[in-house]
Amino acid sequence: MSEAAAAIAAIQGAITRAEADSGRVAGSTTLVAVSKTHDADTIRPFLQAGLRVFGENRVQEAKSKWPQLQAEFSGIELHLIGPLQTNKVRDAVALFDVIETIDRPKLARALADEIQRSGKAPRCLIQVNIGREPQKAGVDPDQTQVLVDLCRREYDLPISGLMCIPPAEGDPVPHFQHLAALAKAAGLAEISMGMSGDFPQAIACGATHVRVGSALFGNRQYHQ
Ligand SMILES: *Cc1c(COP(=O)(O)O)cnc(C)c1O
Repeated sequence: MSEAAAAIAAIQGAITRAEADSGRVAGSTTLVAVSKTHDADTIRPFLQAGLRVFGENRVQEAKSKWPQLQAEFSGIELHLIGPLQTNKVRDAVALFDVIETIDRPKLARALADEIQRSGKAPRCLIQVNIGREPQKAGVDPDQTQVLVDLCRREYDLPISGLMCIPPAEGDPVPHFQHLAALAKAAGLAEISMGMSGDFPQAIACGATHVRVGSALFGNRQYHQ
């Protein structure tokens, strides 16, 4: 087994255990491998080992490495998990299959316009600033439903789920539970939460997508 295959097996094993422990259906959680800061040569063995769902947090960085990998491997699903500026919307829609970080009306409208123009429609998630941290992106939890409704009714932009990054300190579980409740109230099926340090707890709270970086790829070259 390659090193990459062993790392994937370890994380998938932990996901399967967390699903079983919390009475979730086996296979109901998707592993999003967060490959930010890692170059194509580092990512390739993970593709060779069968992984297909990846997350990147910068449009420019993703654009510099993924078109080549998409040409080499079929069936890749690429998620944008970092902030998106409206002037990068065209590149983002062209490259990503899922955009997880919609957090304001202006961005939602720009995405809706670009989807209309290009005919390419990535799945869209709304990022919620679940801990109401001033330095963090995301819509206020209390405004989530308003933004979902605006996207659906005004912009004709279907929203398939919610995403959050809880505060780095403290217990993430109440935040995970809060996000799951917001998704349920809005009738949204996809819940993206949980990272290397806390994905089993996120699965227990209902995560459908966990975003795991360092536990798969090792430490990043620079902090993000
Ligand atoms: C970097 C990042 C992750 C992965 O973090 P790890 O702790 O390395 O697993 C998940 N989600 C987002 C939004 C990130 O930026």
